[in-house]
Parts: sequence; C-alpha cells; structure tokens
Amino acid sequence: MAVGFEYPDLSVAAIRAGLAAHDFSAREVAQAAIARVDALDPQVHAFLEPTPELALAAAERIDAALAGTDAHNAADASAAATHNTALDSLGPLAGVPIAFKDNMNQLGTHTTCASLMLKDYTAPFSATCVERAIAGGGLPLGKLNMDEFAFGSSTETSAFGRTYNPWDLERVPGGSSGGSAASVAAGMVTVALGSDTGGSIRQPASFCGVVGMKPTYGVVSRYGVVAFGSSLDQVGPFGRTVADIAATLDAISGRDLRDCTSQEVTTCFTDYLERGVAGMRIGIVSALTDAPGIELEIVTATHQAVKRLESLGAHIVEVELPNAAAALAAYYVIGPCEAFSNLSRFDSVRYGYREPDAADLGEQYEQSRAHGFGPETIRRIMLGSYLLSSGVYDTYYYPAQQVRTLITQDYQRAFEQVDALITPVSPRTAFRFGEIADPTSMYLSDIFTIPINIAGNGGLSLPVGLGETSGLPVGVQIIGPQFSDENIIQVAAALEATYDIRRRAPLEAGIHASIEDRLGTPLKAPTQASAEGGRQ
Ligand code: GLN
Repeated sequence: MAVGFEYPDLSVAAIRAGLAAHDFSAREVAQAAIARVDALDPQVHAFLEPTPELALAAAERIDAALAGTDAHNAADASAAATHNTALDSLGPLAGVPIAFKDNMNQLGTHTTCASLMLKDYTAPFSATCVERAIAGGGLPLGKLNMDEFAFGSSTETSAFGRTYNPWDLERVPGGSSGGSAASVAAGMVTVALGSDTGGSIRQPASFCGVVGMKPTYGVVSRYGVVAFGSSLDQVGPFGRTVADIAATLDAISGRDLRDCTSQEVTTCFTDYLERGVAGMRIGIVSALTDAPGIELEIVTATHQAVKRLESLGAHIVEVELPNAAAALAAYYVIGPCEAFSNLSRFDSVRYGYREPDAADLGEQYEQSRAHGFGPETIRRIMLGSYLLSSGVYDTYYYPAQQVRTLITQDYQRAFEQVDALITPVSPRTAFRFGEIADPTSMYLSDIFTIPINIAGNGGLSLPVGLGETSGLPVGVQIIGPQFSDENIIQVAAALEATYDIRRRAPLEAGIHASIEDRLGTPLKAPTQASAEGGRQ
C-alpha cells in the first residue's frame, strides 16, 4: 500500500497505474475522495447529495475483481499482465471518483434538478450515461448542484443554494453545470458529468479552469436525463485533463436503444491524445474573437492559443460563419418552446410538488407550479407558452427553425475547409454573485457556445491559464465537425501540452484564505505546487 498518495491531483491514468501496481486500492481512492468532499464541500457546495456508501460499494467490487484475478494467477509469471487485463475488463474508469449533475437519474438517489418541484423525487432507474460510467468502473460520489432545470449560467438559480467557485469563493462557478465544474476544480472528484443545452458544460469549465466537453448531439445517450431542450441537450464530461475527458467519453458514448437520437460510436477517443496537430487545418473566426464586449484577456488568450497551434504545425485558416450572430435569438425561441413542452409533466399530478391546501384541481395545478418552480424557470415556461401560441408561432418559432438551418449550413461549409475551429468560450471570466442581475445580460454569457448547440456540433473548453487582469481561469473553445469529436480531442490534447498551468484550484492555503494568498504572486507564474501537481 502506498504511503499517502496525493488524491486531489490523480488522473484517470494515474489511478489505473496505481491500481495495477498495487500502490493503492480502489477503496483507498474512494476513502480519499469522501474525505475531500467532507472537508471542502461545506464551503464549495458542489454536492446536493453525496453518496459515499455507493462509492465504497463500487470500489469494493473493483478490488474484489482485481483480487480474484490475482489469486487465480498467483502461480503465473505473467500475473501482472493479467492484472492489467483485468483492469481493462473493468472499464476505462476503473476506480475513478465521479459525480453526476442532479438532472441525471441514478437509481435510489434524488433527482431534484435543483428545484423544489422535484425535492422529494427518488429515481427508480439510472440514466444510460450514469449506468455506463458506473459499469465502466466509476466510483459514484454523489449528485451535483446546478441551475434549476439547467436554466442559467451561474448556478445561482438552484433552489438549494449557490455553488462557490473554488478559485474565488466570492464568484460564481458558471452554470448550469456549476456543481460539476466546481467538484472537479476542487479535486473532490476526478471527473464529473454535466449537460449542455447552450453552454452549460463549456462555460462553467472555463470559469473553474477545468476541461469540459459537449460532444456532438447524439454521441451520448440522453435517456434518463431530465429534458430541457430535447433537440439541443447533450451530456458530456468534465475533467482536469483532456486525457481524463477522453477516457470518460470512451465509457459513456455510443448508441442506446432507449434514446433514438443516439448514434453508434466506434471511436476510441483515448487513441487521439498523442497525434499532434501537424498538417491539421484549424479555423479562426475573427468576427467572433474580436467582437465588441469581450474582455481583452479573453481575446489575448485566444490569439496566443492560435499562435501555439500554428507553431505546432497546424495551418490556420480564416473562416466565416455569417449567420452565427443570430444563434442567441434562435436559441431563446427554440429553447423555451422545448422547455415549455418538456416541463408540462411537472404538474403535481404525474410528478412533482403538490400544494397541500388547494381548494380544487385547478388551484392545485396553479399553486403547485407557482410555488414549485423558481422565477427563471417560470420565465422560460411563460416565454415558451407565448411563443407557441397561435398567431405567434409563425412569427417566432418557424423563422427560428429556418435560422437554425442556416447556422447549421454555415458550420458545414466551414468544416469543408478546416478540421477544427478555435474560438473563445465566454466573453468574460467568472463574475461575482449577484453581479449580473438582468436575464438578458446573463443570456449573453453564452454567445460563443450557443451556436454549437444550434448546429449540433461538439465543442470543448480548454483552460489556458489565468487572465492577466482578473487572475481568474480563462478557457478557449475547440469545435469539431459533426461526429468527428476525435478531432477535438486531438487538437485540445496537443494544445494542452504546450501549457504548464494548474489544473486544480489552489486550495492548499486553506479554503478561507484570500484569493491572493491562495494564488500567490505573480498570478501568471506557475507555482512550485503547479509544477509538481499540475500534471500526471
Ligand atoms: N445558459 C444557457 C441557458 O440559460 C444554457 C443552459 C444550458 O446549457 N443548460 O439556457
């Protein structure tokens, strides 16, 4: 057994290697993860429901399977090799602490979507992504906070309290998958799953300095994930490295007969980590990168990333996406219409909170929905209800679908010229709680991520260090052609290797220490800790 391993920085590959070498057991990894959640989550509040007993049970299954093969092969000289084969058969996430956004059903746990409406709902089954992550060897640590029903960009709309950005506890972690991003950034779990309808994986990943990927629509099954916008929703992983993202995607991707939009995926994403970008064509969109209103440090970080790709041998090509600017408008028609339809099931009869003192059925519906849903959810439902009403439908919903087709064609044309695109993720770094109060400004957080959901392509947010002005994490977005998500992994892994940056929020100085104390000065220089712990 190892004498104390550094759990918070362990990568998927390091856990695998440690298990293979008997440096530690899956049980010890689970215990370290549980201890870290216990120590940090009272301040970060990434978890809505920790499940330590499920993590320990999963770890024991893994240890038992490994011990079984070891005993069986005790007399065999190739026992070590067989031990590794046993690990392979346990799946790409063997012994890896993982947690799930709370819109994902996991048998026996609550699925609240961070809403009072579903406060007492217990999942009678598991979502396919959850099932595959656990079948792939993951140790399920719990359910993670989010914006209510995934409406939002800051996790401030959760009915159960905010999540704090581990890099600066006075700031939002982004959203809607804020709990997923914060749990990975704080080193509580190695990887996490989130969902992304307009940016909800990529924006919080960039705010929390971790990697987050929304695969092409159809790569991961949505079965068992509470629907927001069914034509836009996609599940994807968070991790501290691109390699951890690839391993998680290997575990959860592929066809699922219970989601007819899911597709066969035969790609092994992990195979694309070392291929480099020499000769690849990578597109930039100047109209986006240099758009007004973007913080200068975001523009600078994006330009620097482009230069690095060029020096690795990629050909940089300027492309145009003439209709992308209309994506936000189309999204705020299509998204609320689909949400209105999907959320009609939470009616206090079939599902959800029921107002106890209603006089009749009409009043029960009315009051249960008025009290069970928060203000942003009600805003989306009202908007969808209006946009789908007769007379209005032809003016908004129908043209929004036409615009969607034009945007999709823009991306198809761009990907005839390039193998991947690089753009910013978010126009700014993590903001303070309450700083963005009006809904329209909040909606503008997603101008770089929403077009990708509208077109259906995959996109990944890669951390590229701390902004010179804000001292906060900045990400760049790598986008791929539809169903060529391996291009994204290939480019992101090559670009990632050029940065020597921290992958985890600097919490060593104590979670109550000031941001300056925790970051040290100067902000941009890699610290000793990052040089030692930043890479596995
Ligand atoms: N922030 C966007 C919204 O509020 C996207 C949310 C998401 O991707 N779930 O709709």
